Amino acid sequence: MAVTQDSTSTLKQRNVKASGSSEATAPTLVAQTGKTWGRAREIGILTIIGSYITVLFAPLFVVYMWVSCDKYQCEILGPASKLLTYDLSDSKSWIAFLTDDFFPKPTAEGFYLYFGWLFFQAALYVFVPAKIGYGQETPAGLILPYVVNGLRAWFITHALFIAGSIGLGLFPASIIHDNWGALLISANVYGFFLAFFSYVKANLFPSHPADRKFSSSFIYDFLMGIEFNPRIGKWFDFKLFHNGRPGIVAWTLINLSFAAAQYNNIGYVTNSMILVNLFHLIYVLDFFYNEDWYLRTIDICHDHFGFYLAWGDSVWLPFLYTLQSHYLVRHPVDLSLPYTGAVLAVGLAGYYIFRAVNHQKDIVRRTDGNCLIWGKPAKVIRTEFATSDGKTRKSLLLISGFWGLSRHFNYVGDLMISLAMCMSCGTGHILPYFYIFYMTFLLVQRIFRDQDRCQNKYGHYWDQYCKAVPYKLIPYIW
Ligand code: NDP
Repeated sequence: MAVTQDSTSTLKQRNVKASGSSEATAPTLVAQTGKTWGRAREIGILTIIGSYITVLFAPLFVVYMWVSCDKYQCEILGPASKLLTYDLSDSKSWIAFLTDDFFPKPTAEGFYLYFGWLFFQAALYVFVPAKIGYGQETPAGLILPYVVNGLRAWFITHALFIAGSIGLGLFPASIIHDNWGALLISANVYGFFLAFFSYVKANLFPSHPADRKFSSSFIYDFLMGIEFNPRIGKWFDFKLFHNGRPGIVAWTLINLSFAAAQYNNIGYVTNSMILVNLFHLIYVLDFFYNEDWYLRTIDICHDHFGFYLAWGDSVWLPFLYTLQSHYLVRHPVDLSLPYTGAVLAVGLAGYYIFRAVNHQKDIVRRTDGNCLIWGKPAKVIRTEFATSDGKTRKSLLLISGFWGLSRHFNYVGDLMISLAMCMSCGTGHILPYFYIFYMTFLLVQRIFRDQDRCQNKYGHYWDQYCKAVPYKLIPYIW
């Protein structure tokens, strides 16, 4: 693997030696607050029931959305009303329903496409020249290096896709759209395999044993993950790879293919489809341009790798985050100029907030608080916390700029972009608005999860922070 150093990596390098002790077994993890921090370990019955429901119903939900679009023109209640017409006591009619009307069919082409794509992304991750980025201290006190080459992989993938389809005519640009049902099956096969493999790996051959977390519940461990940073070898990081490549690189590629399908159907691409593609493109390119920043967000710094991320990155993200373009293939919407302008304004304002807030946190952490925020020296609370190697570490919490307005103002920007993505589809149906409902649920739930985790990690420093910045999301409201 070709690797070059960047400036942030040298900044962090002095810390990396601390990660050399990765094979040590962790003593019980006790922060200065007397509590543990990191992923939850004490699980109540409601959490266990919730975990079973998630693992069983999330895949069915994705299939349901696929059926709604594929067979009922994205009418969200279509499959449910058909379901009600079946005689519950007649098992033959149920089986016919499931096989004929419900589940997508696997095909050899879908299988080759999906696994070809996956191996190609893995090859790009391993062989494309990369910078090295660093995460934050884990609960066991490790700071891990990461391969950061997502932007290059994104460009190579999209250039080859466009050259192969539109340029050389080797395959139709609508190929992803045309094989969507079969790809859903293949992605599920991989997502479930990866989740089980990660569970077994965590138990039998973990990458960093000191950072594992076990609860008394199999299903919770399976869902939320045991290993924090599972890897193959030193560099192939499961979390960064699966979130970024099969997940986020796919996002814009899928949209492009659905735009091509719309073109095939009606002879042009609607302004609504262009808008959806544009918003997703900005979001995805921002992610890869700032991939080093992503190493210090909750996904990488706090979530363990279980079904939630393994199956979520393989299936939930590519199949549900792109629903707007699936809808627009079935319902081409031509937006008026004023409406387009309003949607653009919401989306771009949201993007500005999203990027500016995230940048403030990143810069203040990278400069250890020695930077200007909104033209004035950053105001911070300097904190200490303990890791399971028995050491006390230092960090800081920014309390000025956007981070003085609320504790998660970056989520406000994200929700505005998400709303604009949905509004791009007009107001005819509810299905393309799934994304904003889901993002609201996801981010509000994250606020609660983050509150617990930071409280346990920082103790009285966190109380001080909450006093200085009392609002969670929207200033003066909540
Ligand atoms: P943040 O980037 O806000 O990270 C939260 C963490 O930052 C906390 O756990 C804490 O970690 C640290 N922190 C909290 N307050 C402060 C502060 N005042 N100063 C400095 N550090 C602080 O959250 P996410 O990782 O959830 O989100 C990152 C971005 O990604 C957001 O814009 C979000 O909207 C987006 N996102 C998008 C998703 C999608 O599916 N499209 C999903 C999730 C997020 P510690 O102190 O331990 O370092």
